[in-house]
Amino acid sequence: MTTDLAKFAADNGVKYFMISFTDLFGGQRAKLVPAQAIADMQEDGAGFAGFATWLDMTPAHPDMLAVPDPSSVIQLPWKPEVAWVAGNCVMEGEDVAQAPRNVLRRLIDEAAAEGLHVKTGIEAEYFLMTPDGEQISDEYDTAAKPCYDQQAVMRRYDVVREICDYMLDLGWGPYQNDHEDANGQFEMNWEFDDALRTADKHSFFKFMTKSVAEKHGFRATFMPKPVEGLTGNGCHAHISVWDAAGADAKTNVFAMEPNDSSQTAELGLSEKGRHFLGGIMKHASALAAITNPTVNSYKRINAPRTMSGATWAPNTVTWTGNNRTHMVRVPGPGRFELRLPDGATNPYLLQAVIIAAGMDGIRSAADPGKRHDIDMYAEGHKVRGAPKLPLNMLDAIREYDKDKSLKAAMGEEFSASYIKMKTQEWNDFTAHFSQWEKENTLDI
Ligand SMILES: [Mg+2]
Repeated sequence: MTTDLAKFAADNGVKYFMISFTDLFGGQRAKLVPAQAIADMQEDGAGFAGFATWLDMTPAHPDMLAVPDPSSVIQLPWKPEVAWVAGNCVMEGEDVAQAPRNVLRRLIDEAAAEGLHVKTGIEAEYFLMTPDGEQISDEYDTAAKPCYDQQAVMRRYDVVREICDYMLDLGWGPYQNDHEDANGQFEMNWEFDDALRTADKHSFFKFMTKSVAEKHGFRATFMPKPVEGLTGNGCHAHISVWDAAGADAKTNVFAMEPNDSSQTAELGLSEKGRHFLGGIMKHASALAAITNPTVNSYKRINAPRTMSGATWAPNTVTWTGNNRTHMVRVPGPGRFELRLPDGATNPYLLQAVIIAAGMDGIRSAADPGKRHDIDMYAEGHKVRGAPKLPLNMLDAIREYDKDKSLKAAMGEEFSASYIKMKTQEWNDFTAHFSQWEKENTLDI
C-alpha cells in the first residue's frame, strides 16, 4: 500500500518534507516542502534545474522533477518536524536514465525478472574531525593501534550513542559500534536489506551522521583518505542473493544446499554465488570507477602501510576465505564481502554496479578464478596474473570505458554521462598546481 505523505504528516506532526535525490557525484540535493503542499508534490514531484547539479544536463533542459518514493520516507529523529523522502528523477514523463536511483531501480527489476534479489549490508566508516576538517576531533586519540580503543570510543559516546539510538528507533537493527583502525575513525553496523533499501539507508546514514556530528561541534567525513598516513574510510559491502525481496526472502541463492554434490563446494558458495563473484572479479578494475570514484580514493587503495600497520584496503583483484587482506573475502557460506568500495562511493551506484557486474557473471557463468589463501599485504608479490587495481581515477575511468558489457549493463546513457563528468573532474584536478610538483621540479 502506498503511503499517503499528507496523512503521514498529519499523523506524525511533520511540518516539512525534504524531497531528496542523489546526483552522479553522490551529492544529496533536496527541496524543503511544507506539509500543506506535499499532496500535489507526491503526485507531480518537486522541480529542479538539473544543470545546477552533477547530472550532465544543460541550462536549456526542461524542469527535472523528483517524484517522492513514499516507501522511503523517514522522519528525522533529531528534528521530527521534518521528514526525508527519496525522489525518483523524471523529465517530461520519462525516468532520467542517468539518475543514480533510477539506474539502480532498473537493475533491481532486471535481476528480479530472473528471480534474483540482491541483499546487501554496508559498513560506512567515517572520521570525526574538527569543524574546519583540518584535524581529528579528539586530540587524545593518538594510539598507534587505535582499533576498538574503548577509551577513545567513550570520549565520543554522545555522538555514537545518539546515532545508534536513532537507528534503533528507525528499526534498522543496529548491532555494534566501534572505534576503527585510524585515529578519529568510527564504524556503526546495522542489518542488511534489499539493495534499494540499503542504498536509501546508506544515504540517510551519511546525512544523519553529518547532522549529529555538527550538532556536537564536529564534522563527520566519509572521505576515502582524510588523513595522510592513517587508514582510510572503506565502505565494505556484504552481498548475498535471495529468491524473493523483503520479508518474502526464504532461500539464500548463494548458499550451497547441504549435501548437494552438484554444487561447487568451495567455501559454501553455490554455483550461482560463484558466478556472481566471478562477475565482480571480471569487472573489478572497471567498477572501481564507481566504488572508488574520487581522486582521493586512490590514496586509500594502493596506499603505503599506515601507522596502524595495515591499510585494510586492497590493491589487487584477488579473493579468499575469511582473510581481510584481499579484495573479496568469503567469511562464511552464502555471502561475500567486497572490500573495495570507499566512503565516497555513491550509495545508489554502489548497489547498481554490484548487481550489474554480478548478474553479468551469472549470465556468462564467470569463473572467479583461483582463490589465494595468503596474507596479501606480506606475500602479494607472489600472486601471478591477478590484475592490479587502477592506480588513479583516470585509469579507473579508462578501465570503465573499455568494459563494454559493464557499461551496457549500467546503461549507455548513464555510462556516457558518468565518463564525461568524471573526465571533466579529472581534468580539473590535473590543472591544479600542487606543492609536490614545485618541490620536485623547481631545481630541475
Ligand atoms: Mg571497518
